[in-house]
Amino acid sequence: FARLRKGLSRTSEKLGSGISDLFTKSKFDAATLDELEDLLIQADLGVDAAMRISQEVGRQRHERGLDEDGVRKVVAAEVEKSLAGVAKPLEIDASKKPFVILMAGVNGSGKTTTIGKLAQKFSAEGKKVMLAAGDTFRAAAVEQLNVWAQRTNVPIVTKEIGADASGLAYEAVETAKAAGVDILLIDTAGRLQNRTELMQELEKITRVIKKVDAEAPHAALLVLDATVGQNALSQVELFQKTAGITGLVMTKLDGTARGGILVAVAEKFALPIHFIGVGEGVGDLEPFIAADFSRALVG
Ligand code: GDP
Repeated sequence: FARLRKGLSRTSEKLGSGISDLFTKSKFDAATLDELEDLLIQADLGVDAAMRISQEVGRQRHERGLDEDGVRKVVAAEVEKSLAGVAKPLEIDASKKPFVILMAGVNGSGKTTTIGKLAQKFSAEGKKVMLAAGDTFRAAAVEQLNVWAQRTNVPIVTKEIGADASGLAYEAVETAKAAGVDILLIDTAGRLQNRTELMQELEKITRVIKKVDAEAPHAALLVLDATVGQNALSQVELFQKTAGITGLVMTKLDGTARGGILVAVAEKFALPIHFIGVGEGVGDLEPFIAADFSRALVG
């Protein structure tokens, strides 16, 4: 919890001090509730959630009186309610060998880093992990994934730059199967300049790996950068349509005071959120747990 609290400190400091400031006024009235709503909007919770939560604070304050800590608790409880339905652990079905996880997301979202963090986490749990460098478009992406493979001591399947990504994914699933790998993490390209091409490539990868295993990929995770704010919503929309996304990972929560974006995403899409990234280090990946996150968010 300490790591989570630290990771969310930029948001919680802003939100927390904002809530404290509400109590420096001579009275707590409708204007104060508007200020609370603004604070929540600034933290990127989205207008609907911000309005609902400030109304609930107003209602409970009217009913039973709320001090500063009381307001914090109501905000946390309401955030938790929004997140409870989507905060779900990623379940790895051990009977699938390999359990294939397709990793999608736009360049810079933290996809490669998240793959490295997941490789470390799964290896530490005693699972046999393999990586596939499916972004065959960018030499830097392949190199970076190679660095993570070495750092986490897991094997990696690569091909030359410009090679067909679906062909590589196919080979990777076959190789992983033959090697008795438990979890195969497949990186994919994330260039947003050509959306149609990007989506077609993701579709093709999915289609082609089904030739090795009809149920693969067993999970398709979209990696989102929390610092892009409400743009995250349009990214989910884009990928959800074609890439068959089954769950989300939100990165860089340590780099923003707008950590409430998870609430906006949770309310707009019913997609499970599995993990959050709270730093660049290999250990900076936290399971997404509604109660812990909500508590850490308000400080
Ligand atoms: P990709 O292009 O999607 O594969 O993105 P990368 O994994 O290369 O990440 C882009 C940058 O974001 C790198 O500098 C990472 O170190 C950084 N990054 C990734 N995840 C996090 C995170 O949770 N917190 C912070 N602060 N930085 C992150």
